[in-house]
Amino acid sequence: MNLFRSRALMFAALLIALQTWYAPSYAQDFDKAVVKTEMISPNLYVLFGAGGNIGVSVGDDAVFVIDDQYAQMAPKIAAAIKQITDKPVKFVMNTHWHGDHTGGNEAMGTAGAIIVAHDNVRKRMSSDQLISLLDWKVPPSPKVALPLVTFAKDVTFHINSDEVFVFHVANAHTDGDAIVQFRKANVIHMGDTFFNGLYPFIDTSSGGNPDGVIAVANRVLELADDNTKIIPGHGPVATKADLKTLRDMLVTVTMRVKAMSKKGKSMKEIVAAKPTAEFDEKWGKGFLPPERFVASLVGAYMPVKAK
Ligand SMILES: [Zn+2]
Repeated sequence: MNLFRSRALMFAALLIALQTWYAPSYAQDFDKAVVKTEMISPNLYVLFGAGGNIGVSVGDDAVFVIDDQYAQMAPKIAAAIKQITDKPVKFVMNTHWHGDHTGGNEAMGTAGAIIVAHDNVRKRMSSDQLISLLDWKVPPSPKVALPLVTFAKDVTFHINSDEVFVFHVANAHTDGDAIVQFRKANVIHMGDTFFNGLYPFIDTSSGGNPDGVIAVANRVLELADDNTKIIPGHGPVATKADLKTLRDMLVTVTMRVKAMSKKGKSMKEIVAAKPTAEFDEKWGKGFLPPERFVASLVGAYMPVKAK
C-alpha cells in the first residue's frame, strides 16, 4: 500500500513538473491559424487547421463532416466547407469528446446540423471533465453542441454513393472513440486513436488505455489495404504502412514500460531510462515530448492513478 501511495505521489509530482515545463507547447493562436483543404477522393476532403483533422464528404445526399476543431475556428471552417459545396452541413460525426474535435459543435448545431457520436461523448460533454495529464478543466457544453443522436456499438450512413460505417472501439484514446470507414472510397478516419508522426496522447482520465490504442491499430490494419487512405486525428493523411509503424512503436515502448514497472522501477527511473530513444527523432517533436509520453504510459499502467 505504501509503495503504491509513494508511486502515486511521485507520479502526481512529476506530472505537475512536466505540465510546467511544457505548458506553452499547446498554446494556440487562432487568429493566425489557416485552414488547408486536401482532396483525397472525388467527394472526400480533409481540412487541416488548429485542432483535430476534419473529414468532409459531399454529394447528392448530405454534407457529412467528421469533427469540427475549436469554437474559435468555426468561421474559418465554415468558409473552407463553402469552397467545397454550397449545401449546408447535415451531419457532424464526433470521433470523441475532446474540445479540439468538438469545439465547433455549437456553431454547427446552431446552423442546423445533426451531431452524432458515441454514448460516452454526450455523457462527457454534458458534465464537468478534467483531462488530468494536461490539467485541463472542461465545463459542460451548451445543449446545442451536444450530440442529438448517440450510439453504443455502430451506425451506418448511406450517403453520397458510399456506405459510411462508424464503429465504437473500447477504451483507446478515450472511452467514446469512433472510427469512420468510407467503404467505397476506401478511406478511414481514426480520430485520435492515430497520431501520425507524433507521440500519441492517451487520455486515461477519460477512460483511455494504451493497450486499447494498439487494439484499434490492429483492427484497422485488418480493414485496410495498401490503397486505403487513413485520416489520423493529428498529422498528415496516412497509409496502412504508417499505421503499422505507429502500432510497432507503441508495442515496443509499452512492453519496455510495463517490464520496468513490473520490476518496481519508479516513474523517474523509467523516464530516465529513455524507453523511446530510437523513436524520438520521428515521433518526439510534436504535442508530447518523449518524457511526457513515457510519463503518460507509466501513469496508465500504475496500479494507483493520480486523478
Ligand atoms: Zn483527443
